[in-house]
Amino acid sequence: MTGNYAQPEVNIGLVGHVDHGKTTLVQALSGEWTDQHSEEMKRGISIRLGYADATFRQCPGLDEPERYTVDETCPDGSESEPLRTVSFVDAPGHETLMATMLSGAAIMDGAVLVVSATDPVPQAQTEEHLMALDIIGIDNIVVAQNKIDLVDREQAERNYEEIQEFVEGTVAEDAPVVPISAQQEVNIDLLIQAVEEEIPTPERDPDADPRMHVARSFDINRPGTEWDGLVGGVLGGSLVEGKLTSGDEIELRPGREVEEGGETRWESIETDVRSLQAGGETVEEVTPGGLLGVGTGLDPSLTKGDALAGQVAGTPGTLPPTWEQFTMEVDLLERLVGLDDQDIDDISTGEPLMLTIGTATTVGSVTSAREGECEVALKRPVCAPEGAQIAINRRIGARWRLIGVGTLTG
Ligand code: GDP
Ligand code: MG
Repeated sequence: MTGNYAQPEVNIGLVGHVDHGKTTLVQALSGEWTDQHSEEMKRGISIRLGYADATFRQCPGLDEPERYTVDETCPDGSESEPLRTVSFVDAPGHETLMATMLSGAAIMDGAVLVVSATDPVPQAQTEEHLMALDIIGIDNIVVAQNKIDLVDREQAERNYEEIQEFVEGTVAEDAPVVPISAQQEVNIDLLIQAVEEEIPTPERDPDADPRMHVARSFDINRPGTEWDGLVGGVLGGSLVEGKLTSGDEIELRPGREVEEGGETRWESIETDVRSLQAGGETVEEVTPGGLLGVGTGLDPSLTKGDALAGQVAGTPGTLPPTWEQFTMEVDLLERLVGLDDQDIDDISTGEPLMLTIGTATTVGSVTSAREGECEVALKRPVCAPEGAQIAINRRIGARWRLIGVGTLTG
């Protein structure tokens, strides 16, 4: 480790309607613009995936909330003290698909729901994302009432009340609502204080077997590189348990599809950790929190183009099972989010569903639908423990829509 770098210890999702200011807020807190994914960053194994790290700091000489800052220098010229480094997971701007938000949710320890004060509450994705947080069980939430620089006092107050009414009875019921301007950097100190109080770093078992959710995978070699100059495949994702050290043996599940005598089956892959990157720095060991890049001994053709996204990595022999079909208990929503007048029909045999489990998204075909339960055959298998939460989406009109939540039962 070098300089002021500290590994992030908690992942915080930025959710909310498009254009309400998620990316601007991440930039105000971290100084990074998460919408950019340059080739160069990938080559440095510094994979952003809409992640940006921010170190929250304090000026001990000042009262709350003024003492909270992301600046290294306090108003009196003294140096601020670091509190902790957090990692923000920001859904890409163009992405409206629920699956992306839900697979991100699998690695979020808490969330900031950004709501613009300029629009009526709720806008479609404000409601949809809050519902997703509810389903995935993320209840450490701070609401940022953004763009207060664009409204007058009266409008800001009316909007504040609308937000309070909207979150009533939801997982965000007790969440603080902090009026801010991400662009003008107003009340950023209050927001940091709220995040420090509402989204604590989860307690982790340092002796647990490492478990990494792979969100992306790359071949970082330039085209035309000679075989003896090739670097092994790179995995990007988040460690949710344990720690990973350079040199560790790892297994990946479901692994890869192999063909034998006209039959295809999935076989896990084993390799070793050659290098580790966290927050753009090369490190020897990583613990949960933030996004990491894992350089492996894998043939880069296996990791090219996100081929291993959605897989799980860990110590060989410790991973949950791989499922090509499974039974799930189903809990349907009462109505379609954002479309008040539409009821949700029961799941029927033969229909395709899009399922998000951890960071994996796969299409499943329903082979048997019963009351409160169904069996699905998956296009691509998933690695998940029994009891895993599944977000269930159905194609309605032009897009997949969240219709319920499942629990993997076997
Ligand atoms: P996202 O889609 O939620 O990530 O929204 P962006 O962060 O991309 O912001 C959308 C637009 O709103 C951009 O033009 C921002 O400059 C603008 N914006 C974001 N926050 C504020 C704010 O607090 N005040 C004002 N005036 N504009 C803002
Ligand atoms: Mg954005």
